[in-house]
Amino acid sequence: MFFKIFEEAASKRKEYRAFAENELDTGDRFPYENLAKAAKRGFMGCPIPREWGGLGESFLNYILLIEEISRVCASTGVIIAVHTSVGTYPVLLFGSDDQKSRYIPGLAGGELLGAFALTEAGAGSDAAALSTTATVVDGGYLLNGCKLFITAGGEADLYIIFATVDRSLGARGITAFLVEKRSEGLTPGKPEKKMGLNRSYTTELRMEDLFVPERNRLGKEGEGFSIAMSLLDGGRIGISAQALGLTGAALDYTIEKMKGRSEKQLKEEQELSFTLADLEARFEASRLLSYKAAVIKQSGERCTKEASMAKVFASDLAVEATTKCLNFVGVENIKSDSPLSRYFCDAKVTQIYEGSNQIQRIVIARELLKLY
Ligand SMILES: Cc1cc2nc3c(=O)[nH]c(=O)nc-3n(C[C@H](O)[C@H](O)[C@H](O)COP(=O)(O)OP(=O)(O)OC[C@H]3O[C@@H](n4cnc5c(N)ncnc54)[C@H](O)[C@@H]3O)c2cc1C
Repeated sequence: MFFKIFEEAASKRKEYRAFAENELDTGDRFPYENLAKAAKRGFMGCPIPREWGGLGESFLNYILLIEEISRVCASTGVIIAVHTSVGTYPVLLFGSDDQKSRYIPGLAGGELLGAFALTEAGAGSDAAALSTTATVVDGGYLLNGCKLFITAGGEADLYIIFATVDRSLGARGITAFLVEKRSEGLTPGKPEKKMGLNRSYTTELRMEDLFVPERNRLGKEGEGFSIAMSLLDGGRIGISAQALGLTGAALDYTIEKMKGRSEKQLKEEQELSFTLADLEARFEASRLLSYKAAVIKQSGERCTKEASMAKVFASDLAVEATTKCLNFVGVENIKSDSPLSRYFCDAKVTQIYEGSNQIQRIVIARELLKLY
């Protein structure tokens, strides 16, 4: 059954690869054109049900889409992954009918870009320690605090912001809010200068007496932390797809460059052939882990362990593969405008966000020992 699913997905991969290779660009600035082209094809709402304006594709097809887009432009890949898995799904899964009808068609159609704001200074891995406050006022809440490293900060139209209504309650005080771009009191910072994924614009998000009407609270007071955590499995599979795209691109680029080498040269450099063969085998293994996690997620079963394993394996492999590929093909590729150099820098980030790989290993162990 599993392999039948992959056969069906193969034609989708073809379609997504043709789109990514023929229509997407690489560059330095925020990929407005790439996102507009994705929106035109319905890809900003790939797995969102048709009744809400999405394409209604399976989660596996969405993962293939992120992989193929990330082969060409990983920044575009992460913007779409964040927009979908933690920018749109929360509204779909936890929003009121009013919130869904106000936001989902725009998000799924790509007229609105979604973002997710959880991380703060001192509240990254330990997200429950966040200190942004939500004070109850007449008709809603006043948010005060500062978020860090927010993907598509300043560019997104709708932010899902997490704040606490009562710090003494710890995680049980955390509440989620839907905040529109032009809200008074919301100030995004300048894009951080990062080593990789530079087109995805990562910014701080400052909130000063930012008024959020009660109708824009997502879920109940105190439900925010469980909302955030429930999204992470899907988000992590998305990051694994991004890492797969980078590994695949680096391997293909390197294999093309190595094709000029003679049999004799390859014999002399046997270590190199062995390494390339091992990377290819582990790339296939990584794909299977990610696709398996995606299929389980689609079925509605718990996939926490599988999602974390897929993310750890794919992102560690992306860093190793891009490093080794750089070693193979020589000094020309160290130049910052070489694709391999970009894949290498982009790959590093996949080990860090959506929960660092140390945290993923803790999650896997907890799942094995049934400590959840
Ligand atoms: C490019 C980029 C985009 C991002 N986009 C978003 C976004 O859109 N929205 C958002 O909310 N956040 C975003 N983040 C933030 C990201 O999720 C955090 O960086 C990540 O969760 C790690 O948090 P931290 O950087 O504060 O590291 P810390 O939590 O300070 O961790 C530092 C180190 O300690 C390790 N560590 C921490 N706790 C433990 C432990 N218990 N056991 C073992 N090791 C531990 C970590 O693995 C890490 O290596 C983004 C980050 C980056 C780099």
